[in-house]
Amino acid sequence: MHTELKKLFPLKEYLGPKGWIEDLSTIEPHLVEERGLYKGKSDLLLKPNNTNEVSKILKLCNKYNIKIVPQGGRTGLCGGTIPSNNGQEVMLSLERMNNIKEFNEKNFTVTVEAGCILSNIQDQASEKNFLFPLSLASEGSCTIGGNLSTNAGGINVLRYGMARDLVLGIEVVLANGSIWNNLTSLRKDNRGYDLKQLFIGSEGTLGIITSAVLKLFPSPKNIETALFAVPNSEAAIELFGLARSASADLLNAYELVSRVGMEMVLKNIPGAKEPMNNKYKWYVLLEFSSSSENNMRKQMENLFEVALNKNIVLDGVIAESTQQRKDLWLLRDGLNEAQKPEGGSIKHDISIPINNVSKFINDATYSVVKFMPESRVVAFGHIGDGNIHFNISQPKKSNKEDFLNKWESINKIVFDIVNDLDGSFSAEHGIGKLKREELKFYNPEIEINLMKSIKTTFDPKNILNPGKVL
Ligand SMILES: Cc1cc2nc3c(=O)[nH]c(=O)nc-3n(C[C@H](O)[C@H](O)[C@H](O)COP(=O)(O)OP(=O)(O)OC[C@H]3O[C@@H](n4cnc5c(N)ncnc54)[C@H](O)[C@@H]3O)c2cc1C
Repeated sequence: MHTELKKLFPLKEYLGPKGWIEDLSTIEPHLVEERGLYKGKSDLLLKPNNTNEVSKILKLCNKYNIKIVPQGGRTGLCGGTIPSNNGQEVMLSLERMNNIKEFNEKNFTVTVEAGCILSNIQDQASEKNFLFPLSLASEGSCTIGGNLSTNAGGINVLRYGMARDLVLGIEVVLANGSIWNNLTSLRKDNRGYDLKQLFIGSEGTLGIITSAVLKLFPSPKNIETALFAVPNSEAAIELFGLARSASADLLNAYELVSRVGMEMVLKNIPGAKEPMNNKYKWYVLLEFSSSSENNMRKQMENLFEVALNKNIVLDGVIAESTQQRKDLWLLRDGLNEAQKPEGGSIKHDISIPINNVSKFINDATYSVVKFMPESRVVAFGHIGDGNIHFNISQPKKSNKEDFLNKWESINKIVFDIVNDLDGSFSAEHGIGKLKREELKFYNPEIEINLMKSIKTTFDPKNILNPGKVL
């Protein structure tokens, strides 16, 4: 073991064999990022079982200036959980802290530990007839602590907001080991600065989130899902406004799917089915949901008819059964996986004011294809939030390595357009190791300086997830 990490030996007995892990085969998966973009070094993994254990670990790390890399479900897409290569950082996984502590049904809240898997929270809420609306394709593996630390988005942001909008209180262990218990369930609380929001989205650089009080909503009783073919992305935006009004603002998902992406799903994802008789360049997957017994079918059919008459919809399918709903969602959810067998892909998770989304898609597609003819643009995602996953798959029959070597040039093309259109180069995945340079380049100096002074205040010795974000 690295000599620096040996200073943590006093914790070995206290944490016990489940909390102190030196076994290399257990550690190995914690050192790599799923896509293979990053690999780090560390021969110590700590898995505390409760907040006091986290506090003891941080106290000792702070004393000896040992750097800590927090880990949840390790589904993050920016390398935030990967230690550096110097072998001196300890990994701290919250996965054993996975209790759902308390449902407060009258208050519409649930208190959970940070290591709870997101889908477990959703399932337990649903058993009690509630909805916890945070929903991502990684929900079977990601943890609520990771979701809060990255301020995760997903498919229901349109209606319920991002992770930060779904939290009333948190408990955090600070860099010096002190515990800040802010597990309040108040919906209104204006006592000074809202400090919890600083930890949310801070990617483990300001404190370790150990528990949270989350908001619940009534469980939906009625869901209508449809896939509409639209002539272009402008039409998708026009349809968005109509859909919000037609559903009395009960639209909870509004997702863009391109034909290029759908072809990949149909080819590479088992069970994916062509949804309509004809093929179209663009589709929108939309969903209305309501907690009342009111049938929303009529509203969806009316929307289809009105949009058809305005020529902003060309064709459509409204799901007739739960299975058909799943089939439609597979065409959207399969998009990430479907790109893998197509070779290298360069991915961007950007957001743009909704009125500029279509200009972004047109300009960025034109510029990328001009730079690299025959590259395949797979633009899709949460268009109702102005959030587009603008992914580019390598040209067919090209060399993967040559393509991936163009990563930085392509990023620059895409991010400059995003910046000119008042958008963000990181909509929901965060910064981690991956986008630190972009943060420095595109964000005003005054913001970076404020972030640095917050970091110094919360973590003066820079022991929490160093080299991430800033
Ligand atoms: C297939 C797939 C689909 C995805 N879809 C979406 C999507 O739609 N929207 C979206 O926003 N993201 C998405 N993601 C990204 C990812 O799932 C989210 O970022 C998720 O919130 C990460 O949770 P996690 O528990 O895996 O965190 P990790 O990856 O373990 O950690 C993420 C960051 O948070 C820090 N961290 C983790 N736990 C704590 C804690 N308790 N206290 C302090 N810091 C902590 C880590 O150090 C790291 O910097 C997707 C990922 C995959 C693989």
